Amino acid sequence: MSSTRLTRQKQEFKRFLELNKDSDMTVAEMAERLRDSGSDIGIATVYRAVRRLEKEGLLVKTVSGSGATAKYRYSSGDGNVRSIHRVFCLSCGKTVELTYNFTDKLEKSVSEATGYSLFDHQVMFYGLCPDCK
Ligand SMILES: [Zn+2]
Repeated sequence: MSSTRLTRQKQEFKRFLELNKDSDMTVAEMAERLRDSGSDIGIATVYRAVRRLEKEGLLVKTVSGSGATAKYRYSSGDGNVRSIHRVFCLSCGKTVELTYNFTDKLEKSVSEATGYSLFDHQVMFYGLCPDCK
């Protein structure tokens, strides 16, 4: 693969993530959407890019799981990573994002207790959803 093509694919993938920044996607879903939009980026390339962007903090794992079941969400990388608060159903895996912010106080007390300047956090609640309980 030529480096020009690689560079183009990287830019194309980033543009794709920006367009889809409000959705959580598995690697397979990303590859499928890219293919549907006429892209030649294959799943192996998506997988490598996801690994790299996750290390760089531009992709946040929003649903934990191994390999194919993990879902990722793009964060713009402008230093203002959106805090993520979710409830996860242990039975069916359905995840609901909490839209209200209840953790400002928590972040403040963690900051005071540790002396860290905090930029972001993720909170996940585990339980059973209304359909499963
Ligand atoms: Zn459930």
